Amino acid sequence: MSVYLDYNATAPIDERVLDFMIDVYKNDIGNADSRTHNFGEKARNVVETARKQVASLLQVNSDEVFFTSGATESNNIAIQGLREYAEKNNKKHIITTSIEHKAVLETVKHLEKEGFEVDIVSPDISGRISAEEILTKVKDNTLLVSVMHVNNETGIIQPVEEIGEKLQERNVLFHVDATQSCGKLVEEVRKIKYNMLSFSAHKLMGPQGIGVLILRKKAYKLPPVKNILYGGQQEHGIRPGTIPVALVAGCGKACEIAQNEYKRNYEHTQAIKIEILKLLKDSDLQYHFNGDQEFCVPSTLNLCIEGVSSEALMISTKQFCSVSNGSACTSKSYAPSYVLMAMGIAEEEIESSIRISWGPDTDKEETLCSFKELLCIAKQMK
Ligand code: PMP
Repeated sequence: MSVYLDYNATAPIDERVLDFMIDVYKNDIGNADSRTHNFGEKARNVVETARKQVASLLQVNSDEVFFTSGATESNNIAIQGLREYAEKNNKKHIITTSIEHKAVLETVKHLEKEGFEVDIVSPDISGRISAEEILTKVKDNTLLVSVMHVNNETGIIQPVEEIGEKLQERNVLFHVDATQSCGKLVEEVRKIKYNMLSFSAHKLMGPQGIGVLILRKKAYKLPPVKNILYGGQQEHGIRPGTIPVALVAGCGKACEIAQNEYKRNYEHTQAIKIEILKLLKDSDLQYHFNGDQEFCVPSTLNLCIEGVSSEALMISTKQFCSVSNGSACTSKSYAPSYVLMAMGIAEEEIESSIRISWGPDTDKEETLCSFKELLCIAKQMK
């Protein structure tokens, strides 16, 4: 069996989460918005318990937690949902970065076509955006700054704490895509001063198809975000549609587990990284990392093995381990990674780069064995 090392694309569901969801599917069959019977009330209780679990992980209030179908939708609501406010207040300038997930980048570009002004800031070779560069771009008509916490391809942590702190003095909304950090960098996420934050449950071993948008209140008022879909009044109208009770329950459970276990998980993923780095050091391969490792999360490695095609390497090592060479959302195209390009990495280096990502339940020994095989095969390919 191939060892799964593509957790940044999606992580396997935690068995405790799955068991809990099955129980909900079997026993809580009502619609959480049905008011006329106990089935509805029971389902509502499940949803509200999950909302509290998410709120507790993030240290926000429960009424600041909105369930969506995933980070893509959360990002879309956070950005597109500001359109009306932007137009009314003549604040149509958005600042973001060239390494955001497409769910942010494409949404911002869509607004640009509709007359918004967009500034896109790129990182340097370290993979990190300069907080100062973001802040110098802020103008009187700036509506929104959207910067991700951890990049999905490189694992590089962005200076969102500093940006959030500084933006507090300005009348600018701050959105953070925390899809790769939520439940992992728990204390760091809590410290960020954001107005809106997005994530998907499946990256923290919850189910696919459920996500969260956190909207922080200021003086008892939510940010001026409007729904982008029309329908019912679910999630206070911000995300209409029947609430998927079992998915929401799974999301809450995953958050609860992450809150209890994040310190252990951090150490476990870091221990795996240390061993992988040792194996690399002892190999005769020429390699380097994409992104400054000082700022990298312990569960991701973006590695360039010089002179070895990543496509060929991935195919040849498929039976041992499953890695990737970019985000799954864009992996159907063979175009070089736009994230690595934005960092100024040469195309031939990008073609030799792979992303390895692992998680709390990754077996260290199995991973190291499969990684040894990968290194052996890479050597033969030189
Ligand atoms: N943002 C980031 C940083 C991500 O890594 C992903 C998933 N690759 C998304 C947003 C989108 O998440 P989903 O596909 O679950 O909507």
